Amino acid sequence: MNNKDMYKRPLQDLRISVIDRCNFRCTYCMPAEIFGVDHEFMNECDLLSFEEIEMLATSFAHLGVKKIRITGGEPLLRKDLDQLIKKLVNIDGIEDIGLTTNGIYLPKYAQQLKKAGLKRVNISLDAIHNDVFKGINGRNVGVSPVLKGIDAAKRAGLGVKLNMVVKKGMNDHQVIPMASHFKDQDISLRFIEYMDVGNSNGWGFQHVMTKKEILNQLTQHFDLSPVDPNYFGEVAQRYKYQDAIGEIGFITSVSESFCSSCTRARISADGKLFTCLFANKGYDLRDLLQANSTSQITNEIQKIWSRRDDRYSDDRNEANTSRKKIEMSYIGG
Ligand code: SAM
Ligand code: SF4
Ligand code: SF4
Repeated sequence: MNNKDMYKRPLQDLRISVIDRCNFRCTYCMPAEIFGVDHEFMNECDLLSFEEIEMLATSFAHLGVKKIRITGGEPLLRKDLDQLIKKLVNIDGIEDIGLTTNGIYLPKYAQQLKKAGLKRVNISLDAIHNDVFKGINGRNVGVSPVLKGIDAAKRAGLGVKLNMVVKKGMNDHQVIPMASHFKDQDISLRFIEYMDVGNSNGWGFQHVMTKKEILNQLTQHFDLSPVDPNYFGEVAQRYKYQDAIGEIGFITSVSESFCSSCTRARISADGKLFTCLFANKGYDLRDLLQANSTSQITNEIQKIWSRRDDRYSDDRNEANTSRKKIEMSYIGG
């Protein structure tokens, strides 16, 4: 079955958001002033059930999806998540399942997630300095609970990558301390350019710390060399240290966009399909789920994907960054 979009990009990856709630209020993602006590999150009854997610994932696998990433909001707030992992690992064609998390609940869940078949976690940590991190996550949580989460994941045998969003004036002074802290560990630290996802984080080009600027800082302290990509569509541009086992990567959505190799679809926790992180509308898959036939769902997804012409980051400019977009915590990071 044809799984290419208008620009001949195959559908290969699926990100599934399992919840839109989060225990953090990172200033660049869910600022506390906007995501306050009266913010309306999805009702529990509106979240896709694990059976529904399994059915959708099976349909995506029929179209060529091999990799699934579970995300949110904070996915570990979703009850019994290991039960979902168990279902997803058994789907024919799915080769790899990952999870993106802020890490706080990993000491509690890492073992059972691994046992369920999870292979890898991406843990978000934007600073190694306690007060800086407390200021960013909006919940006054220090670094130590996240470091415990990283340890728990490693002890459980999960592969670990770290995500650090770098924003000028927020944590650009944490690039070197973070690299120094993790360079002797078997961990890939990925620096993510601050993106204009959603409309609540007050994003502006002037806040973006580009790959070039981050690499400039790093090369003044470390001897780094580039590593070839592992596969078509690999998002991170990777570098290795000459004298340490750690690795770093850059996710350059703003300064060097990668839309031409973007093979990712996203499903929100309430069952909408988004073909781009910067979309302003999704396709509701719920009615299709009622029909209870994976072949019907597969056909419908194929039709939607074949019409896909998204390339937001390639076209990013002052004019289109302010248009209405879905929030990251809703669409799934
Ligand atoms: N709560 C989990 C976490 O923080 O890892 C998963 C969801 S979060 C939305 C997924 C990733 O998106 C995190 O690594 C986060 O730092 C990143 N992110 C959120 N807002 C972003 C933005 N405006 N620009 C770049 N990355 C962002
Ligand atoms: Fe929550 Fe992750 Fe967004 Fe931070 S980045 S507010 S941890 S969803
Ligand atoms: Fe993919 Fe959209 Fe990001 Fe481009 S802007 S890489 S199409 S998600």
